[in-house]
Amino acid sequence: MPAPTCSSCHAARAALRRPRSGQALCGSCFCATFEAEVLHTVLAGHLLPPGAVVAVGASGGKDSTVLAHVLRELAPRLGITLHLVAVDEGIGGYRDAALEAVSSQAARWELPLTIVAYADLFGGWTMDAVARSTAGSGRSRSCCTFCGVLRRRALEEGARLVGASHIVTGHNADDMAETVLMNFLRGDAGRLARGGVLGSAGEGCALPRCRPLQFASQKEVVLYAHFRRLRYFSEECVYAPEAFRGHARDLLKRLEAARPSAVLDLVHSAERLALAPAARPPPPGTCSRCGALASHTLCQACALLDGLNRGLPRLAIGKGRRVLEDKPPLSGNPSSDPAASQGPCTCEQSRDGATLCGDGGDRAEATCVLQSDLSPTE
Ligand code: SF4
Repeated sequence: MPAPTCSSCHAARAALRRPRSGQALCGSCFCATFEAEVLHTVLAGHLLPPGAVVAVGASGGKDSTVLAHVLRELAPRLGITLHLVAVDEGIGGYRDAALEAVSSQAARWELPLTIVAYADLFGGWTMDAVARSTAGSGRSRSCCTFCGVLRRRALEEGARLVGASHIVTGHNADDMAETVLMNFLRGDAGRLARGGVLGSAGEGCALPRCRPLQFASQKEVVLYAHFRRLRYFSEECVYAPEAFRGHARDLLKRLEAARPSAVLDLVHSAERLALAPAARPPPPGTCSRCGALASHTLCQACALLDGLNRGLPRLAIGKGRRVLEDKPPLSGNPSSDPAASQGPCTCEQSRDGATLCGDGGDRAEATCVLQSDLSPTE
């Protein structure tokens, strides 16, 4: 059966049916519609005002590649200037190749590019060093928890470095729906309350950040890259298979098979979610060390780095943070092992010998990992 005619231009043959509406479009009309929808998202949400200097979080992957390309097309109409900011997490065999993809995109599109590295920002810590530090406890999926916190901070630092007024990231509707599911599965009211918001206005000293692709499905992002012949890096991070997000992704795929609108329905549900007053988290304060937004004395990034530098990586997030917050900061040095001079964990679970502590708990001055409530963010 011949392909139907494009329902927009009525001239070319349709190349696809839009997953969200079933509308038959040719490649050219699909791309124009996709760009118009992103423009609408930005304008309706007042996300990027004229004159904004926008740091685009660039990873070389499909989402950030499509985001940078679309914003480059829209930049003259929006009156914004773009600067790509890439983060080198220090993940051997993965990030080097992805950064090459970002560099070639920047050269092709004539956009300025700045690369910031964990090792430079965080006292020598790379993600590979963090993974080694947290290994052996059977909870290696926490790599993405650490990386998510540090990436956010690194992107903020990179954006400031280039004089940006706003940050944009390439999260699409599927990413957002996965995040909503994860937050429900964890009962994380604080994150649920923020889950559907298109962006943050820049509370505290943080720059405003937003997600212009939040209502674009992953399938349509891939289709846009295909029709615009965009080249991107598509290998998976070596730590991704361990992430809790993978369970939410699998669940979402099954939900979508039964109900095609499940992804956008979840995103819109989170937008409209209202928490009962008793469930609302207290308003955030500021980190006593760096001034970033924080719901405790220390922000997540400062607490996490403190935990790593003390050889207590698992105490960095959750109740164990109290242990860290009472102490002055240590400078970063991932090659040293501050744990070596400390004694065994004093908690009952380690003393009775029935349950071994994780590596974060084998320390006399802290509770063991079994008593902390490290909760993965990715
Ligand atoms: Fe970082 Fe996890 Fe993403 Fe890898 S998969 S870059 S460790 S957040």
